[in-house]
Amino acid sequence: MNRRYRKTIIAGNWKMNKTASEGKALLDEIKQSVGKIKWCEVVCCVPFVDIPMALRALKDTRIAVGAQNMHHEASGAYTGEVSAAMLKDLGVKYVIIGHSERREYFGETDELVNKKVLAALEAGLHPIVCVGERLEQRDMGITHELIAMQVKAALAGVPQDKVRKMVIAYEPIWAIGTGRTATAEQANEICELIRATIRKMYGARTARAVTIQYGGSMNAKNASELLAQPDVDGGLIGGASLKAPDFTAIVEAANQ
Ligand code: PEP
Repeated sequence: MNRRYRKTIIAGNWKMNKTASEGKALLDEIKQSVGKIKWCEVVCCVPFVDIPMALRALKDTRIAVGAQNMHHEASGAYTGEVSAAMLKDLGVKYVIIGHSERREYFGETDELVNKKVLAALEAGLHPIVCVGERLEQRDMGITHELIAMQVKAALAGVPQDKVRKMVIAYEPIWAIGTGRTATAEQANEICELIRATIRKMYGARTARAVTIQYGGSMNAKNASELLAQPDVDGGLIGGASLKAPDFTAIVEAANQ
């Protein structure tokens, strides 16, 4: 992390876990244990139906609420969907876009991810855009090209003044939910590549201001080493965000 130029952000992704009452119990525990948050931003990305509860529970804290997805259109006949304006109106600050589970199970393409990014920014939300390679792609040696392409596609048409509002999460698919973490060097190498890609598109000043997270089995044990890397500006955390002591330990590692 490099706090001089950009925010360190620790974001929990609850995925499809926790009813509102279970979520409230978890947030109460996190609030108690997390202590004073000084040097980083903390976000809990909860299921849509948990959002009002989370906003209430976190009202007087420095923990922000995020969503895990949104539709790219502003409104209309899209049964079952939720727009960026609906999230913004509730008080949501961040929204995860293009998580690999959405790309894999719900057919989200780079083009759709880009539409969602543009809609989120337009509504005043901070998108957390996920990019990452499969193990076969890493083994084929195409990780760099693939990640650069995902980043370029996600950012297509994003105006210069909005790029700093974005967060990019490097999430190697082989590390998500597997207990297999990228080494700190591997994580930093790709986060650096993402920054270089942004630099080519928007220049050095903008690139150094963008928060780039690592995600993939980050936990209480490996967080400090990953966050010590110069281009790893935080974490997107799945499994460990569901246990207050683990999530708190990661926040503490970022808060050093
Ligand atoms: C994720 O879902 O974004 C994630 C990183 O999950 P986990 O921490 O469980 O690997």
